[in-house]
Amino acid sequence: MNRRDFFSSAALLGAAAAVGGSVKAESDSSACPTKLRLSSQLGIIPGDSIPEKLAKIKDWGCEAVEWGGDVVGCAEERRKMADDAGLLSSVICWGSHNGDMCSEDVSKRQPGIDDLKRAIEAAGILGCVGVIYVPAFNGQTKLNNFEIRQRCLEFLPEMGQFALAHNTKIILEPLCRMEAFFLRQVADGAAIARDCNGEAGPDGGISVMGDFYHMDTEETSQMGAFICGGPYMRHVHLAGGVAAPRRTLPGQNCTRFVDGFRGLKMIGYKYFCSFECGVDGDKMVEVPKSIAFLRDQWEQA
Ligand code: MG
Repeated sequence: MNRRDFFSSAALLGAAAAVGGSVKAESDSSACPTKLRLSSQLGIIPGDSIPEKLAKIKDWGCEAVEWGGDVVGCAEERRKMADDAGLLSSVICWGSHNGDMCSEDVSKRQPGIDDLKRAIEAAGILGCVGVIYVPAFNGQTKLNNFEIRQRCLEFLPEMGQFALAHNTKIILEPLCRMEAFFLRQVADGAAIARDCNGEAGPDGGISVMGDFYHMDTEETSQMGAFICGGPYMRHVHLAGGVAAPRRTLPGQNCTRFVDGFRGLKMIGYKYFCSFECGVDGDKMVEVPKSIAFLRDQWEQA
């Protein structure tokens, strides 16, 4: 057994322990090498229209587009655009709805839940892996850490069931402390998903993701974070970390992705890694350069 094999098996055992052994189904698939499946939000892609941007995403070798919350209400139309471009839809990056579901103001909660359901329905139409949800950004709730977690366990299980009925999931996004005091690490998100899903485990409607930008501040190991996410992992955001130029295209600052990608390979991750970042320079030149950089980092992992 070489060094890499040793770490692979040790990591999978660790992940299995962390998630109660339910990693097995995923680890079985690790016999087939996972591949880097790229997706992108529209913002960093040059083009005067959505179809123009989608054509670029496809030309540059990505498999999917990540939509914003504005897709709700026009999901059929966007689905056709993606189909016409030969792209899949990775996720809807939806957000926190001003933290309403976790607000101390009880009257705000149901309208938030109703809107989240509309986003889930749109994700179902688009064929998305899930809807990204943030319980609360800093300043959006007066509940404390313990209370927000309790609140998530009150309403998310039913939302998860609703998502499964639409062939999609809710994806919890951990953020760095500059943006959110609650839910900052991938392992924490995976534990909330576990508690919400009960016996369904990773097959339940609540899942987690990792964003390399936020992880740069909050995680001691990108590889370790993804292993902790294990079979609950459903999405990844790609961006450089806090070093200048901050939160920019992968490859434009000193952030490296080999360690994190190694973790994704170890858990047999088969979902998307999607650009959510700024661009320093000409998008036409820099985005393809970043894609080549990431493919090389994946090779090295
Ligand atoms: Mg993100």
